[in-house]
Amino acid sequence: TTHLLGRVAAHASLGSFLHVDAERALAQARGADERRARGDAQVLTGVPIAHKDVFVTADAPTTAGSKMLAGYRSPFDATVVARLCGGADGVAGAGMVSLGKLNCDEFAMGSANENSAYGVVRNPWDTQRVPGGSSGGSAAAVAARLLPAATGTDTGGSIRQPASFSGVTGIKPTYGVCSRYGMIAFASSLDQAGPLARSAEDCALLLSAMSGFDPRDATSAERPPQDFHAQMRQGREGATAGRPLQGLRIGLPREFFPAALAADVDGAVRAALAGLEQLGATLVDVSLPRTELSIPVYYIIAPAEASSNLSRFDGVKFGHRAQQYTDLLDMYKKTRAEGFGTEVQRRIMIGTYVLSHGYYDAYYLQAQKLRRMIADDFQACFRQCDVIAGPVAPSVAWRLGEQGDDPVKAYLADIFTLPASLAGLPGMSVPAGFGEGGMPVGLQLIGNYFAEGTLLHAAHAFQ
Ligand code: GLN
Repeated sequence: TTHLLGRVAAHASLGSFLHVDAERALAQARGADERRARGDAQVLTGVPIAHKDVFVTADAPTTAGSKMLAGYRSPFDATVVARLCGGADGVAGAGMVSLGKLNCDEFAMGSANENSAYGVVRNPWDTQRVPGGSSGGSAAAVAARLLPAATGTDTGGSIRQPASFSGVTGIKPTYGVCSRYGMIAFASSLDQAGPLARSAEDCALLLSAMSGFDPRDATSAERPPQDFHAQMRQGREGATAGRPLQGLRIGLPREFFPAALAADVDGAVRAALAGLEQLGATLVDVSLPRTELSIPVYYIIAPAEASSNLSRFDGVKFGHRAQQYTDLLDMYKKTRAEGFGTEVQRRIMIGTYVLSHGYYDAYYLQAQKLRRMIADDFQACFRQCDVIAGPVAPSVAWRLGEQGDDPVKAYLADIFTLPASLAGLPGMSVPAGFGEGGMPVGLQLIGNYFAEGTLLHAAHAFQ
């Protein structure tokens, strides 16, 4: 903990941390040492971590990357935080040591961490480039070895894409595996928590600790606790030492390899696939015909839910309140105009538009129908394969500011992560190789519902 606190301070220019509490971290580390001395330590006890700033914490501020929540203190801890680091209410958890809170796009809306009210995050592989987003602080901190692990959230790719851009491993589990209690809501039917770490094995340990049924989240999956590390290690029937993936059918959706895919990404992903073949896997052609439609579908459903979720930030109960106003309505308007950044305001306007009378049927309802068809397309694929693979993003990390003011450019780059999000399926990003400018490229693996173990097994064999 002492060593990593030093690294965090030395690399503050990356912008990955929003809040560091060294004293508290050292106290937690001493507690972990005592726990180890008592003999009741778990595998993660004493291991440092930090949390994306959308997880509420009682002992540290939570901003969600927004001015709206400047100075906000939550009275409770998110379930994921309590399970990993222990909670203010006395929950011991896995005993990990929290170094603080990590930068992210405002309310997790973005793909480059350029939408944070608290500054950009730099990619440690090339500090003129973005780390990806919205969990950009998490990915950059792990990539720069400031931390062995970080939490993230993924609504439409925000764990997988920054993991890919920053050369780390990240997994978004099946919707419902991790509790959303205390995770500041962006789009509730899509939001999922997950770990970013250096390897699939570390992700397996973290996911085991942070997941599990939570009665305080109505969409939490009611299942017994899972040992993802054991699932990761479970050998396949017919596997041999040299061919641990014998018999694993990996489906390659042709829509994930369009002509427009950057040649460096295509090359790195295909090399990784050849590596998986050598480990015994077979590659099969499959199709996800509505892949392109996942962009308009997601950018209707996610803003619709966001517009509803963010209505709670009105200056009354918590967060920012405008200083000067004439009446209540004026207070709401000024508070929200001052507190929310451009991208958040854009999403609220899109969301309220697609939900409004007269447009609901044309946009929101159509999007919901297509969402179901996208999920069905995956089930058709999983009749032909066990895992789906492809790129995470169409390019390597872009340069800071390169996308200019065109939000649609960034939306289009979400094409390969959105389908699994809309279907609620687990998805993972595994470092595959390097592309243009020596930047990392991730391989995406998508599994069927609750098949995290299969993804982790394949990724671990590959690593
Ligand atoms: N890039 C997507 C968006 O801006 C996904 C973000 C996320 O997964 N939180 O909405």
